This record gives sequence, C-alpha cells and structure tokens, in this order.
Amino acid sequence: MFDVAIIGAGVVGASIARLLSSYNISIALVERRADVSFGVSKANSGIIHAGFHHNPDTLKARLELRGNKMFDRLKMELGFPFQRVGILVVAFSVEELKTVEGLYARGVANGVPGIEIVGRERILTLEPKLNGDAVGGLWAPTGGIIEPYGFVFALVENAVANGTRLFTDWPLASAKRTGDHWQLISEGGEVLEARRVVNAAGLYADDVSAAFDAEEFRIIPRKGEEFLLDRNAAAFPAHVIFPVPAKNSKGVLVIPTVEGTMMVGPTAEDIREKEDTGTTPENLDRVFAMAARMVPSISKRDIITSFAGLRATLPGDDFYIELSQKAPGLVQAAGIQSPGLTAAPAIAEYVRDLLIRDGLELAEKEDFVATIERGPRVCGMDPAALDELAKREKTYAHIVCRCENVSEAEVVEAIRKGHTTLDGIKFYTRAGMGRCQGGFCTYRILAIIARETGMPVDRITKRGRGSPVVLGRIGDARPDAEQSGARPARPEGQS
Ligand SMILES: Cc1cc2nc3c(=O)[nH]c(=O)nc-3n(C[C@H](O)[C@H](O)[C@H](O)COP(=O)(O)OP(=O)(O)OC[C@H]3O[C@@H](n4cnc5c(N)ncnc54)[C@H](O)[C@@H]3O)c2cc1C
Repeated sequence: MFDVAIIGAGVVGASIARLLSSYNISIALVERRADVSFGVSKANSGIIHAGFHHNPDTLKARLELRGNKMFDRLKMELGFPFQRVGILVVAFSVEELKTVEGLYARGVANGVPGIEIVGRERILTLEPKLNGDAVGGLWAPTGGIIEPYGFVFALVENAVANGTRLFTDWPLASAKRTGDHWQLISEGGEVLEARRVVNAAGLYADDVSAAFDAEEFRIIPRKGEEFLLDRNAAAFPAHVIFPVPAKNSKGVLVIPTVEGTMMVGPTAEDIREKEDTGTTPENLDRVFAMAARMVPSISKRDIITSFAGLRATLPGDDFYIELSQKAPGLVQAAGIQSPGLTAAPAIAEYVRDLLIRDGLELAEKEDFVATIERGPRVCGMDPAALDELAKREKTYAHIVCRCENVSEAEVVEAIRKGHTTLDGIKFYTRAGMGRCQGGFCTYRILAIIARETGMPVDRITKRGRGSPVVLGRIGDARPDAEQSGARPARPEGQS
C-alpha cells in the first residue's frame, strides 16, 4: 500500500514525486509509456519563462514565477542543463510597443525581477542578431533555457534513489474505492493500492479523472509545431526572442537551446486527436517567415528535424489544481499547459500542500539525498581529459554517435539507469539527435542495448509498445517472402 500514487511521469508528476520523496512516506509513480518524459514534457520549447505573460490573478502566473525562482537550486542539486540566458520581446511598431507596455506592467505586478522596457538602441545592443527594424521591446533577464527531458530524468532518478517506486508501461485503466484507499488497476489487470492519488496525466487527465468517477472535464489538445536547427553560432541569437504575443499563444519564438542548436516555433492550433503530432511544410514556411522577420540570419538550410507537442488546455486557460470534491484523496493537477515546465517545481509544492490539507502527515526524511550522480559526457571534453578518462574506462573512447559525440560508456550508463528504448537513450545521452538523426548510430545502439539487457534485437523498440525498430532477422525470413522481394523493415525514421 502506497501513501501516494502519482499518475503520469511527465515534468509535473516527476516534480511531485521528487518533492514528496524528501518526506517519510511511500510513493508510486505510475506511467503508461515505456519511459518517463515521453509525453508533452519531451516536446516543448524548453523555456523557463520569466513570468510576464499571464494575468496576476491566475494560478499559472503565481506558479510560473515561483517555479522560475526554484531552478538555480534544482540545477545545483540535480545537474541538468539550464542557463538563464534572458528573454527579449521585440516590437516592430508603435502599436506593438503599447502591448509591450502592458506586458511590462503585468511583469511588475507579478513581481518579475529585473524586467525593463528597452528602446531601439538598447535592444539591438543586447541582441545584435535582431532585425534592425526593431523599434524596442522588453528585456527579462531571469528567463532561461533547459533540456526538458534531462530535467525530468534527473527528477525521477533522484525520486527513485529516495525510495519512490516507478512503474513504467503501466497504463491506469480504472480505479476502485475500497475502505480508506484506492485500488488502481492497469490495462493489463495489475493492481496497486494507494491512500491518496495525484492525477498528473497531462493530455489524458480527463480520462484519469473519469476512472475515479471524479470531476468531468475535457482536455483540448493545442498543437505546437517546432523546427530544430543545427548548431550555427554565427547566425543564432544568444537570448530567447519573443514576438509581441498573439491571443492564444505567446507567438512564434526563436529559441537557442542549451545544446547550442536552435528551435523556431511553436504554432498554436486546437485539435481533436491527442496523438496527432505531425508537422506540415506549410507550417514550416509560416513559422520560418515569422522567425526570420525577428532574426534574419537564420536559414532553413540548417533545419535538422521537426516535431510537435500538444498543450493540454482546459476552457479558461488556467491550471486546474485542486482536491477533488467527488473522489476522496484525489488531487487533480490538470490543464497544465504552458508554462507547465517552468511552473512544475512550484506545482509540486502546491500539490503537497493540498495533500497536507487532505490529512497527509509529512515528516522530513533525515536521510534524503538531494543530489544525483551522473557519469562524464565526452562531448566538449578537453582531449587530454578524455585520454585520462579512456585509460580508466576504454569505452569512453568508443564514439557511438558522431554528430553529438556520444560514447559507448554514456549509452551503457543510460541503459543501466533504466532507459532501454532508442528514444530513452536518445533523450538521456543525445545519441541520435544530431544532423544525421540516428543514421549512423542506431544500429550501434541496438547492439549495445541487446548486449547489456539480453533482449533480442527484434524486441527493442523506439519508444515502447507498438514502435518496433526491427521487424525480424534476415535469417528468419520465409523463403516465399524472399522470393516475393520482401525486405526486412528499416528502423523508423530511416530511409
Ligand atoms: C509545443 C509546446 C511548447 C511548450 N513550451 C513550453 C516552454 O517553453 N516552457 C514551459 O514552461 N512550458 C512549455 N510547454 C508546456 C509544458 O511542456 C507542459 O506544461 C508540461 O510538459 C506538462 O507536463 P505534464 O507532466 O503535465 O504532462 P506530460 O509530460 O504529458 O505527462 C503526463 C504523463 O501522464 C502519462 N499518462 C497519461 N495517462 C496515463 C494513464 N492512464 N496511466 C499512466 N500514465 C498516464 C503520460 O504518458 C505522460 O507521460 C509547452 C508545451 C508545448 C506543447
């Protein structure tokens, strides 16, 4: 029996698990996918927002600002990539400058530190890559960029090291109230028991709420397409560049990443289908035109790949974080759209306080360890240091991914920490994220996973159930298939 079960291991569930793991209670973190951070938390802009976009009387404005402030300590403890590069909003007309004044006033009301309105000369000095037609804008130095999946992996690793039990490939299907607790039942019929439950199921929070016969609401997916550009420091801005915002979204942004690549996007379109993450060439053209207006030096030639994430929105556009009025011991953490990544650490505190209000007794764990160990990364390492490292462990000198300079030792570390799909390893190590998008390293990684786990190659997946990488071995092919010209399948994404 767990004291608390958290449904969903995105950034929200992971933040809650990590915070609760610092207290003397038992926690289950339950995730339907093969690995953590495989939902919306892997497909976003990776910005730690400064806190000037939302109205001070919304919950998301409060939690965004508090969350932003928590990242320096979190980075110190967990070591994920995060930089406070600052955010600029760029205006191209007097009209737009009026909107900037409104954003500034909102930022001041929210308590955003260091925010200032800047004129033409100052904005072009702060960011020389901006279009010279800019007339001014807003500068928020506390905004930052982060590797979102790296953050979630670190949170979960730390929560697990502090006693949290992680259940992946565990899709909650139904829940039954039995005495003073809940029986949680997976699609496969497995059962977990918990006294209290947190619904942090992102796009599926409405289905999870229904499983508890709790509040009825409907999550509306709002799609955001993003385009990733390869490293090109000469063309890229050093800060996150925002346009003056549109009604439904913050607009199309130019976003340097912590890895030195760059993203442009996202779009914002309400859709029906919760798994529709396709991108279109039309949106690429549209997004690029908007981004290039702000930063003319960016070029489509640098595009490596595209992806889409779906914001989990609710009518009213605010977070919905409350104790359920219908299901005892259930906390709803739903409608966590942008700035959910920024707000997640503060959402965790808010949820903890709701659980306390519900009667959960928390005593701080004396042996809580706030930090995690991470092996060295070969990328960017000084050659002499790499030589020394390779003397101790020679697989640091075996480069598996040439684009991102990832060694065999790093892939093995990812596998030993539980990331056994291609995507899990990609998000943990960056192998497969570079310009060739896995063309060189996929087969090498498959071989390492097979060797380390004992799994046959045809059981290894890209991202869990329903995403096989290899459909069979040539040696197993039936003679009639060979005669009909059938070929073994290629890994997904390879052509
Ligand atoms: C395009 C885009 C750009 C964004 N950019 C930013 C940004 O720059 N900064 C920012 O602050 N925010 C940003 N956001 C918002 C941010 O990404 C989200 O708010 C945040 O990731 C939501 O986290 P989550 O944990 O609620 O959801 P998720 O990451 O989706 O996690 C929910 C988890 O629940 C699991 N789950 C669902 N149903 C079940 C079930 N029945 N049983 C078990 N598990 C289940 C899912 O598999 C999933 O892993 C952006 C969003 C998008 C789409």
